[in-house]
Amino acid sequence: MITFETKRAKEFGIEHFVCISVNPKEASERPLALDAMQAMTKYLGRERVVALGELGYNLINHLEEEIFVKQMDIAAQLDMLMTVHLPHNKKPDGMKRIERILEGNNDKSGTKYNRKKILVDHNVEETIEKTLELGMWAGLSVYPITKLSPERAIKIIKKHGTERIMIHSAADWGVSDPLSVPLTAREMRKAGFSTSDIEKVTFYNAYEFFKQSPKFTWKP
Ligand SMILES: [Zn+2]
Repeated sequence: MITFETKRAKEFGIEHFVCISVNPKEASERPLALDAMQAMTKYLGRERVVALGELGYNLINHLEEEIFVKQMDIAAQLDMLMTVHLPHNKKPDGMKRIERILEGNNDKSGTKYNRKKILVDHNVEETIEKTLELGMWAGLSVYPITKLSPERAIKIIKKHGTERIMIHSAADWGVSDPLSVPLTAREMRKAGFSTSDIEKVTFYNAYEFFKQSPKFTWKP
């Protein structure tokens, strides 16, 4: 991910940056997850690694939470960005737990976790308000079948504005469309959004988030 894929991407004109973590889907195995976490931390200082992620919940249990919080602590210690995955099922429950972790760490001087450096991913209608209210950045994952359709993403943006919200897609092992972002941009144009609003949610907000990492050297 850090060397081979970066080089491969470059050959196709893509500047490649990396988020690494022990994924929530692999966080329930013991002692494997703890060992993996230890091994993973060795790579956080590498040139292309801009964030810890995805962190968060899959099934929503205490084993996942242990790995989640430990990795949040590492990110806080290193002052790194983090991306947090909302579970596919029971998203509001996952959100409540995230809120509890953040609120539980308030101290007089501020917060242990810098919320401006947290991006919460796979938001839906039921979670977006909380993500923004807690001061974090909100990702909307647009997928052809699962997750959000362009129409749902656009509805959410209409209701909640364009601040700290970003649209993204995937090229994963399931059914996904890497062109979902331009597709959503086109649909936003048809729906009457201004160019600057479209650029914000499809480009500049993500740029603003990631450029908080000194290792994110790419510039528009
Ligand atoms: Zn995810």
